[in-house]
Amino acid sequence: MPVKNSRVPLVATLVALTGVVALLALPAPGRETGHAAIVRAPASREAATASGSPRAAPVEGSAEPTGPPAPSPVPTGRPDPGTATVPGASRAGRQPPVVDHGPRTGDKVALTFDADMTDAMRYQLRSGAVRSYANLAIVDLLERERVPATFFLTGKWVEEYPDVTRRLAANPRFELANHTYGHLAFTADCYHLPTIPRQRMAADVARTFDVIAPYGGRQTRYFRFPGLCHDRIALAELAPLGVTVVDGDVVSGDPFARSWRPIVDAVLSRVRPGSVVVLHVTEANAPMTDEALPRILAGLAAQGLTPAPLSEVLAATPPSPTA
Ligand SMILES: [Zn+2]
Repeated sequence: MPVKNSRVPLVATLVALTGVVALLALPAPGRETGHAAIVRAPASREAATASGSPRAAPVEGSAEPTGPPAPSPVPTGRPDPGTATVPGASRAGRQPPVVDHGPRTGDKVALTFDADMTDAMRYQLRSGAVRSYANLAIVDLLERERVPATFFLTGKWVEEYPDVTRRLAANPRFELANHTYGHLAFTADCYHLPTIPRQRMAADVARTFDVIAPYGGRQTRYFRFPGLCHDRIALAELAPLGVTVVDGDVVSGDPFARSWRPIVDAVLSRVRPGSVVVLHVTEANAPMTDEALPRILAGLAAQGLTPAPLSEVLAATPPSPTA
């Protein structure tokens, strides 16, 4: 048995896996995106045709975040002229660009960590069946080694881990990005994740920006769909938000891994200059990622590749579709 499994009692593990395995995105090699770095929107879409103002739309019935820091003048769910300077900001009202990776020149690669939190995961956490969905060993290592990284946060994860979020925001080498509020699927067939209605898509993503924004730090307008699942409808719904959709070109396959080796092999065999590597910081659902990470860092160094914030890796990417 992997050492990490001792962190969670066997029964709890079985319960957790039964309830969650079907709900959490499980990137498989087949899901690896192969399309071009930028998918230009085929047609513009008026912001007014979306399902109303993100702030005005109804939201799920849960408590407000508890104890976030004082608000700071960072962008919120509602795009405004000031967001033009924020990494990932695209022109609101146009379908957002979809990015897999940055330019294949230079030596930079982006390590991205998704922080999933579904309702099922939250239940496991609060019932005590799961100890943690926040892999602090990853944060410790990145801080200790001064490694830049980008975190795609779900709103519910932030609400469960305000202190960890504060820690991430306080690190000048970490960027914060958006991974939806509750990790619902934005297409009909996405790893058995419950699907969000089209009418709630923009509000869900806007709400997540509003949850993350008060923490400050290196805020962005980067957004990642759960399971990387998206279609033209989902992209069109997010047009009012002025985001850049980031898929990634190196899917590590770390969810539910039982050994660090396949994760390390998957990353180091596919990574190239400009790559965006998809990893998870979800601990119980990705229990080997912290063991894989030092080996990944060593392998990157051996290949002459240097981790950098996502905004720097994508720096030469065209900012947004036009016309
Ligand atoms: Zn996810």
